[in-house]
Amino acid sequence: AASPSKSYNITLLPGDGIGPEVISVAKNALQLVASLEGFKIAFEEMPMGGAALDVVGVPLPDETLNSAKKSDATLLGAIGGYKWDNNEKHLKPETGLLQLREGLQVFANLRPATVLPQLVDASTLKKEVAEGVDLMVVRELTGGIYFGKPRGFGTNENGQEIGFNTEVYAAYEIDRIARIAFETARKRRGKLCSVDKANVLEASMLWRKRVTAIASEYPDVELSHMYVDNAAMQLVRNPKQFDTIVTNNIFGDILSDEASMITGSIGMLPSASLGEKGPGLFEPIHGSAPDIAGQDKANPLATMLSAAMLLKYGLCEEKAAQRIEAAVLDTLNRGFRTGDIHSAGQKLVGCKEMGEEVLKSIDSKT
Ligand code: ATP
Ligand code: MG
Repeated sequence: AASPSKSYNITLLPGDGIGPEVISVAKNALQLVASLEGFKIAFEEMPMGGAALDVVGVPLPDETLNSAKKSDATLLGAIGGYKWDNNEKHLKPETGLLQLREGLQVFANLRPATVLPQLVDASTLKKEVAEGVDLMVVRELTGGIYFGKPRGFGTNENGQEIGFNTEVYAAYEIDRIARIAFETARKRRGKLCSVDKANVLEASMLWRKRVTAIASEYPDVELSHMYVDNAAMQLVRNPKQFDTIVTNNIFGDILSDEASMITGSIGMLPSASLGEKGPGLFEPIHGSAPDIAGQDKANPLATMLSAAMLLKYGLCEEKAAQRIEAAVLDTLNRGFRTGDIHSAGQKLVGCKEMGEEVLKSIDSKT
């Protein structure tokens, strides 16, 4: 166990919609596993997104960013909602998220897609294909075609309107995402598949060259390469072949959404955004779900599992992370389900009660 004096600062950004509901439940779980593992957590709750627009006038107040920068890790609920879709200042809650990622310099986005045995029927794939899927997509988040210059609109030599973007990667950007991916694969089953389009794109040719070079630092990880069109097919044909996938910003955007659909349970999926050093950002992949906000209907497990990723990848408190993961499985095994994953014969509960049942599972395993 950790020394009793060990303590961490965690910034909580509940945000909008169901964000506050799922964050409050995850906070309790973090508090409990910390006390069981013998460390302390000091939470600082800050406004972000639409909630911050309403009160402070900007989606990411300076105090919020500073809190996130100073802390050991940040847990975010969700941001946005219809309410702010047409606000006169054209300040969208979502801009706050881009500013937060930039401010924290998190360039690696980790999204696991795991088909839990209890939820295999939720998968969009046939049972025998979905069963046992447990993969992680590591997406480059701050480079590539979404940020490359030149970009814009113009006119071509025939007077036709054009739109253009540029895919650019520098060697250092590829090296650092590759290292995070190899480290991630090492903590998992030791297999890394790098996805690119190196038969067509120069940026991908450099990507493949750099990932191959970095591989020599990780002789214990088995590296393979795949073209993105093939990877998109293989993900639905035989997703079990994958352990860890690393890819660029745009391919990762698409493939991580494809992978999440394999599980079919948006309320169950966590994510982590990491930088070189410095605090990471952890959040469920789902949005603010304004249709069910304030009704105690949200599934808090994606945020619970994001809290587990925070413990594992953010604080290196692996045992505390495992306590949460095990408790989530135990709670599902005991038949508790929120509306989004409920089927006949199971116990339908709300967000709060689901949270309490997970706490009971954590307690029962001590
Ligand atoms: P955003 O643009 O913020 O990503 P979105 O509309 O794309 O929003 P979500 O907010 O994730 O997506 O909601 C999509 C659907 O999934 C909604 O019907 C919502 O109620 C449901 N949903 C999302 N998250 C959860 C959750 N944690 N528990 C239960 N249902 C959820
Ligand atoms: Mg969405």
